Amino acid sequence: MAGKLFAWCFRPPVRERSLAHKGRGGGASPTRLCARPAPGTFRDMKAIELSKYRNIVVLTGAGVSVASGLPTYRGKGGLWEDAEVARYATADAMADTSDEVWWAFGPMRTMAAGASPNPGHVALADAERQMPLGGRFTVVTQNVDGLHRRAGSKNVIEYHGCIRRTRCTKCETPPVDDTVAHESAPPCTRCGAPLRPDIVLFGEWIPEIAQYAVSRALRDCDLFVAVGTSGTVHPASGFVRSAKYAGARTLLVNLEPMDRPDPAFDDEVLGQSEELLPRLFRG
Ligand SMILES: [Zn+2]
Repeated sequence: MAGKLFAWCFRPPVRERSLAHKGRGGGASPTRLCARPAPGTFRDMKAIELSKYRNIVVLTGAGVSVASGLPTYRGKGGLWEDAEVARYATADAMADTSDEVWWAFGPMRTMAAGASPNPGHVALADAERQMPLGGRFTVVTQNVDGLHRRAGSKNVIEYHGCIRRTRCTKCETPPVDDTVAHESAPPCTRCGAPLRPDIVLFGEWIPEIAQYAVSRALRDCDLFVAVGTSGTVHPASGFVRSAKYAGARTLLVNLEPMDRPDPAFDDEVLGQSEELLPRLFRG
């Protein structure tokens, strides 16, 4: 894959794009939003100077875990392509019986348990350790695989929970680490109610504590990086706007350019996160 996709792309100003469509005399050719320079230009990409920032927030999506062998959720080959799995990954299914939720998520739990963090996860954990005194580095992840913590990241907000934990459907017993792919719901040892994976299903609310932690991190953010997520879909789209409002520099790191560019992102870096993150956060 060497030299295939890596490119450091600066978005041209909007007025420059509109001039490109004026016809004769208006410019030689349309200005592409994200032209890809010649292969190898990623070597010129500047690393992020951690000392310049006090509060960095990195949002990660499924693209970050692809190199660890985990499938994405949507799109070709994604988990939700399996209609049965998608059907049981919901609050409605949970209301009937958590057995079906276990059926839907058992294979994911097995895959997550067998996966290892890749260089992208490790780069973020290293960056957190290298932040100057008083600085804060927060990873907000939409992934439920637990790989950021396993890579060594400490300040992680698992926005959709973690498949490697189990919790009670009824009582307030704290979630426990559990990587068993139960075939049916085991009972809570305290209250007897069925247990469930500690993840957010379709149709469920994001836990308030996660919402609050993200809002607090974004409020003081001075660098926001979205990685391995399209950047234009909720929640990433809302996060980048909050960060922008707080005055942060904003950056999207993704395999493909945005379909509909979001002006809230200042810059876009195209490529595989396991290659780009170690270069961006090389300290
Ligand atoms: Zn219980």
